Amino acid sequence: MARLLMKFGGTSVAGIDRIRNVARHVKRELDAGAEIAVVVSAMAGKTDELVGLCAEAWPHYDPREYDAVVASGEQVSAGLLAIVLQGMGIPARSWQGWQIPIVTTAAAGAARITGIDGARIVERFAHGEVAVIAGFQGLNKENGRVTTLGRGGSDTSAVALAAAIKADRCDIYTDVDGVYTTDPRVVTKARRLDRVTYEEMLEMASLGAKVMQVRSVELAMIKRVKTFVRSSFDDPENPRPGTLICDEEDIVEQQVVTGIAFSRDEAQITLRRVADRPGVAAAIFMPLAEAGINVDMIVQVASDDTVTTDITFTVSSGDFDRAKAILEKNKAQVGYAALQGAGDVAKVSAIGIGMRSHAGVAALAFKALSEKGINIRAITTSEIKFSVLIDAAYTELAVRTLHAIYGLDKS
Ligand code: ASP
Ligand code: MG
Repeated sequence: MARLLMKFGGTSVAGIDRIRNVARHVKRELDAGAEIAVVVSAMAGKTDELVGLCAEAWPHYDPREYDAVVASGEQVSAGLLAIVLQGMGIPARSWQGWQIPIVTTAAAGAARITGIDGARIVERFAHGEVAVIAGFQGLNKENGRVTTLGRGGSDTSAVALAAAIKADRCDIYTDVDGVYTTDPRVVTKARRLDRVTYEEMLEMASLGAKVMQVRSVELAMIKRVKTFVRSSFDDPENPRPGTLICDEEDIVEQQVVTGIAFSRDEAQITLRRVADRPGVAAAIFMPLAEAGINVDMIVQVASDDTVTTDITFTVSSGDFDRAKAILEKNKAQVGYAALQGAGDVAKVSAIGIGMRSHAGVAALAFKALSEKGINIRAITTSEIKFSVLIDAAYTELAVRTLHAIYGLDKS
């Protein structure tokens, strides 16, 4: 008998009508003979609303109370789905994180799952009961408190639960019908992928594609959870399969480039004439790390006089002002002549495991971008991706250009 984990995002449970639709998807799989655990997000917009209420109550709120508040969204949708299922004559019960339990670290608002005991859920499959589990939340055993997994965390709940109950499949139902070669709102010729590797999906998620939480993809990769991204808006009687996230071996025709990701959420900082001596990079980046600021692309230029150098790097736009302030404060220690910053930049990336075995993939992009008059501010590469930093105004043009040259446009 197949065992399934079905996860439904916020838009899929946005109201009772939508929840009824979710229940029809569940019924279809039940009728086909599967054992089913469902993970739900909070109803669309609910978490934002709860986050806003915390800030309104007191901007310096205790993060553990924030967790107590925001975890409630999932409690509601899980209970409602269980009620709807029961109303259809399907045995179901809701589970909150602490009841299973889904054990996490103590980091309020950003907890990580450390263990799940799936035994009680599996036990009830024998009685034909559907388990409806509140995503996003867990329990910290040391302090006995409710935790949440960071925004978008119910994807991670789903994948972790799929692994814990040894599900044959984890279906992530969302408002799109799969993973696309790029954002279809930007490139109308974007194609849905039938399959994508864990590695590529991880890069896409990290580089700005918003389909699944990054951590959930990482977990699927580590635990080898067979994961589908599919649409909850399909006819429940006749749904499409969506995109399978899988091992490289399971992909027959591998393209060199699989997808183009982009993020407008970037800011560039350049330090001019930094002393070219050991310890300088540490003096720049340690204080940023200590402030919890994530640094992404880092480019150092070797200057011709070898006495000074230029260092360029990016941070997310939300951290831009803070990063500049820290660097200005440390100007004397670091020893640089000028700090230049640009907030209106974007990062465009091409991803594909085929890059491992093909040369000149990035060069093609540099040529195409230059022909469109797009200046590249910084470049980074790794085994299966490269990224360029450009002026934000050219984001769409750059994405469309790369999508076309790598043969991703739908015919
Ligand atoms: N409701 C939470 C959020 O909006 C978790 C999730 O939807 O995955 O971030
Ligand atoms: Mg989500």
